[in-house]
Amino acid sequence: MPMARDVLVEVAKLHGVCIRPVPLRRLDIVTGKSEIIDVPCGSTLDSKCPPCAKRNRQLRMAQCREGWHLDTEPTITPDEPNEEQRWLVEFRADMLAKRDAAEQAGDDTTDLDAVLSGLDEEINAAGMRGSVTGSAVPRRTRSTRRRQDAPDLPKRKMVNTTLGRTFTSSDGRVYRPSLFVTLTLPSYGKVREGVPIDPDTYDYARAARDALHFSKLVDRFVQNLRRVAGYDVQYFAAVEPQKRLAPHLHIAIRGTLPRAEIKQIAAATYHQVWWPSADEVRFDGDRLPVWDEEAGYLDPATGEVLPTWDEALDALDEDAEPLHVIRFGNQVDVQGVLAGTPDADQCIRYLSKYLTKSIGETLDGGQAQREHAARMVDALRYEPCSPSCPNWLRYGVQPKNAKAGMAPGRCRSKAHKPEHLGYAGRRVLVSRKWSNKTLAEHKQDRRTWVLEALGHADEPTDPHRYIWRPVPAGDANVPPLAVRLLRSVHERQRWRAHLRELEARASGQDLSAIPQAA
Ligand SMILES: [Zn+2]
Ligand SMILES: [Zn+2]
Repeated sequence: MPMARDVLVEVAKLHGVCIRPVPLRRLDIVTGKSEIIDVPCGSTLDSKCPPCAKRNRQLRMAQCREGWHLDTEPTITPDEPNEEQRWLVEFRADMLAKRDAAEQAGDDTTDLDAVLSGLDEEINAAGMRGSVTGSAVPRRTRSTRRRQDAPDLPKRKMVNTTLGRTFTSSDGRVYRPSLFVTLTLPSYGKVREGVPIDPDTYDYARAARDALHFSKLVDRFVQNLRRVAGYDVQYFAAVEPQKRLAPHLHIAIRGTLPRAEIKQIAAATYHQVWWPSADEVRFDGDRLPVWDEEAGYLDPATGEVLPTWDEALDALDEDAEPLHVIRFGNQVDVQGVLAGTPDADQCIRYLSKYLTKSIGETLDGGQAQREHAARMVDALRYEPCSPSCPNWLRYGVQPKNAKAGMAPGRCRSKAHKPEHLGYAGRRVLVSRKWSNKTLAEHKQDRRTWVLEALGHADEPTDPHRYIWRPVPAGDANVPPLAVRLLRSVHERQRWRAHLRELEARASGQDLSAIPQAA
């Protein structure tokens, strides 16, 4: 009954219940009891599961608030992996095995790839650094050694602190100022209401490359900021879409610098992309490189082996030009903010305003803007998004880790998709010493709060107590989604009713006077 199910999904959304729960089998090694438990999909900030996206946004706001005006140095001690981290890693291993099996069988792995990248984000958010697969591949130094020169900026002596300065006013009050900065990419042509006035002259090619490499530029900005500031600057940043569908950055910075200096840093910051040239099309249409098990990709006409990724990098000589140089535009907004003021709260709301929307989600959905987005997707179609992008074949280079079946224009990476419009990086960037807590700990805070309100103590669980396993698709023990959603909604209602009752009792109020929203 698809109709009924649609309604149920809407009801679930209203109640903040995950609409794409992942069933997992949990074995309790103390009691020996095994049961299937629905875990929220935890969709990280994309909007496929609005309730999870919303919850994520709220958690991020809490995290931002917590660290911004910290007045004592955070103590960072890596924790023992907790239960959540443990099952995430195990679950990822199982999903990877599934994905590899699907690939072996020649099946489409798009969905499983998406699950894996989602899990990697979750794992990072749970407080583990890096990716589970690790970077065992030796890092190449040659290409990065190339002219990424330090820009000409003042440099302060480093002080070993993450805290900003405070100021004491004449009446003895202590102020803890901080910054809220917005950085934007340059203009690609005049726009009105987010839509190019003249699409023919709007520089889509540049807009595409800028979006693809935006996260590198952000990294450089932070490096330069630290160099100038002279202390271990901490930040909480969000990459958000502009109306013209370019990514831009809001960044909450702990501590303060002169406004002019921030502008100077933004103006001096750039990133050079030292990739092989992608400006001359060598293979196109029916004339595409062919795969050879032994040699890799060959020129279809001459049989000549195309240079591998490493060879192509090595061929970049001293006079080579970078494929792309990315900089910020002139529009730099710097706002001073004081701890504990309504301003600070407003910035946090602003910072997370669009987190549940993807970059490519047209903000007003008008026809002109949809066409603008389509032109952007076109510009991205043959643009190499990474060293392993199949699009390199178009420019006569074998992608890194080349394998059979690659074709230009058929890259499956997020960056080329209409939802992402070139920016496939993380949406929230939090420096390591932002607060004392990981996102997982913020989650735990909320759970503890609810349990306390319900009068249950939140006993720390032994992390070794449970073993989590994925449930194979079609397992007869998993009830249909509709049944599971209904259960979750019921559970949520029960909880809320209980909480409201407790609140009412505490304040001696009439129950009906308390608003439903929690
Ligand atoms: Zn969900
Ligand atoms: Zn690609």
